[in-house]
Amino acid sequence: MSRALVLNASFEALGTVPARRAVVLLLAGKGDCVHATGLVLHAERVEVPVPSVLRLRTFVSVPYRRRVAVSRTAVMARDGHRCQYCGARGDSIDHIHPRSRGGTHTWDNVVAACRPCNVRKRDRLLSDTGMRLRCAPRAPVGVGWAIVAGGAVPIEWHTYLGIDTRVAAPEPSWDDLAWDESAVAG
Ligand SMILES: [Zn+2]
Repeated sequence: MSRALVLNASFEALGTVPARRAVVLLLAGKGDCVHATGLVLHAERVEVPVPSVLRLRTFVSVPYRRRVAVSRTAVMARDGHRCQYCGARGDSIDHIHPRSRGGTHTWDNVVAACRPCNVRKRDRLLSDTGMRLRCAPRAPVGVGWAIVAGGAVPIEWHTYLGIDTRVAAPEPSWDDLAWDESAVAG
């Protein structure tokens, strides 16, 4: 069974729970379904919509900040699916200081990159390539990012996380913009 996003009474994302746990919270009157999955659970002679997003009825204060794990999805979302060297659509992950040379798999050393830049850079240090980063990569903070790093994020969660994990549409190339002049000629 899938997981449900749990929102605080203030609509801030708190984390995720197994969908079954979300149904229990719903049945106990502790939360309301904000977005349903479309699935229905038959329990205790009642039919309960399985929530994709559940909002708690009472406010929970969360004093701690979660560290966000480095994941491909989260790196891509942080960098807007753009190559951090040239701005083209990024479809791979590059370790700025190559791992083969002791580079770490940390937020400040990982960026989205396009294949041509990845191939061009290879396992060289940035200073040996003449390539430049568009901005210094940093670790994102917040529960939303921790959730994104944790796995697949349904589209209806984006609003509450404030993070868009979808792949950006490719920028049109000149070929896409070509048109048949004869269609309007004469
Ligand atoms: Zn590039």
